[in-house]
Amino acid sequence: MIKKALEVLQRYFGFTQFRDGQQKVIGSLLQGLDTLAIMPTGAGKSLAYQIPALLFKGTTLVISPLISLMKDQVDALLQYGVPATFINSSLSLNEVRSRIDGVARGKYKLLYIAPERLESESFRGLLESLQVSFLVIDEAHCVSQWGHDFRPSYLHLGPFLKSLPQKPIIGAFTATATEEVQADIVRLLELDKPSIFVTGFDRPNLMFSTFRGENKKEFVLGYTKAHADQPGIIYAATRKEVDNLQSFLAKSGLKVGKYHAGMSDPDRQKTQEDFLFDEITVMVATNAFGMGIDKSNVRYVIHYNMPKNMEAYYQEAGRAGRDGEPGECLLLFSPQDVVLQRFLIEQTVLQPERKMNELKKLQGMVDYCHSPRCLRKTILEYFGEENVQAKCDNCSNCNDEREIVDITLEAQKIFSCIYRMRERFGIGMVADVLKGSRKAKILELRFDELSTYGIMHNVPLQDIKDLINYLVAEGYLQLSTGEYPVVKLQPNAASVLKGDAKVSRKITQKPLRVEREEVSLFEKLRELRREIAIRENLPPYLIFADSTLREMAQICPMDH
Ligand code: ADP
Ligand code: MG
Repeated sequence: MIKKALEVLQRYFGFTQFRDGQQKVIGSLLQGLDTLAIMPTGAGKSLAYQIPALLFKGTTLVISPLISLMKDQVDALLQYGVPATFINSSLSLNEVRSRIDGVARGKYKLLYIAPERLESESFRGLLESLQVSFLVIDEAHCVSQWGHDFRPSYLHLGPFLKSLPQKPIIGAFTATATEEVQADIVRLLELDKPSIFVTGFDRPNLMFSTFRGENKKEFVLGYTKAHADQPGIIYAATRKEVDNLQSFLAKSGLKVGKYHAGMSDPDRQKTQEDFLFDEITVMVATNAFGMGIDKSNVRYVIHYNMPKNMEAYYQEAGRAGRDGEPGECLLLFSPQDVVLQRFLIEQTVLQPERKMNELKKLQGMVDYCHSPRCLRKTILEYFGEENVQAKCDNCSNCNDEREIVDITLEAQKIFSCIYRMRERFGIGMVADVLKGSRKAKILELRFDELSTYGIMHNVPLQDIKDLINYLVAEGYLQLSTGEYPVVKLQPNAASVLKGDAKVSRKITQKPLRVEREEVSLFEKLRELRREIAIRENLPPYLIFADSTLREMAQICPMDH
């Protein structure tokens, strides 16, 4: 059977061999098994159902979520000489009628429809009379509210499948691998003892990099100019940011377009085509751009902001290098991104447990940004792949020649602060106390909670927050879930505090920048500390390791 499939692959599509995963999925479908295929963007899911569709009798029904996606797929099939069509709201009534007619006469091997169609009784009647033997659900994660792209219309699928006189073989395809989503797909589509394949998540031709964004705009300008002849996508979080960035890049003479949901349909259509046909090389867009866009020669995908989770990130980044040639995936992140994403999650109407789940996934994204380990390994393990090698030599962490520095002292200070604040505050408050901020809410804290006040006054606030995030990513600290995540100490932080263990970190630039300090602040700090010591009648750094005490004495001598 696979031999036949290979023939079809070569004859119709002109490819010589199957990609990792495709063959297994096709084999399973051809055996008549319900199949759930989880393959990343660009892995070649379409062929994995189009080939069985060509081998099965009759018309295969493909449920697909986006109008543009359907059109692209059908256009591509027609080019290969495969009779296919789609029916959706973009067509005139006459056109719909004539296509339905063609479908009824068995003119097409594949019929693409949007799930909304299933709401129409007459349309369901038509499908029932077709006796569909193979039904494909593309982007099947849309059925799950755990997914990142839930579409209520996908919920019509379950009842529709039940109403069919004979049960078709079902192929569900998605790039999303989380267990919740998988379970939802199996349950809601009532897959019958499905074979589930999670394959080919690795995209070896993609190089992954993360950067803490400081001069993001300049960075992007420099990068796009250096790659001016190569197609690339830049994702930004908001429409406004897309507008700004696009006009900024356009001023420097780059051929750059933009795409977001606030634009009119014709405008979006136009830039999309301009990009596909290389009229413009750079596309600045929100995440509204891209699902199903099969532009194989995208050479880089830059994330101007951190996406909301790894699923979304990998899907978007995966649009680079679909042709198998090298591609770069750069993620620029800043702490504001976390605030924004958190805000967006809180804005959505979701049950509390779902919200919690979204927040947990967001933390996975934050961990990726701060991970000192191989980025590819981090990604693949997130998606459940096992036995991933420790280094890929094709990511910014594996390739970097940065120095490993000892940050035990900084870690001790941070842990002490959290301990003294009795693990009741978030990253911002902890950093403010360490920095010695004069914000009212800080100065209102209890004296004992302030006993580490200002002990990192010469480190920029942002670097302190980064350090805390790093310690979270490394598992010394944990953020509680919930609306206001609180930093908690983990058991290994205690060993560091006691001086039994060391903490190290790879450093990009200079270790820790030292800020010019304000004398007044310094004085105030010293005074405050003295007051605390007197009030509490305690040595202020009770839980500090000796080394820390010594260092602190230098920074801020105590004069009782
Ligand atoms: P997905 O839906 O998984 O994101 P697509 O089905 O759009 O991915 O396929 C991505 C690209 O890979 C397409 O350009 C397709 O033509 C190409 N492709 C798929 N299978 C093969 C193969 N066996 N050999 C070579 N190219 C392939
Ligand atoms: Mg696809």
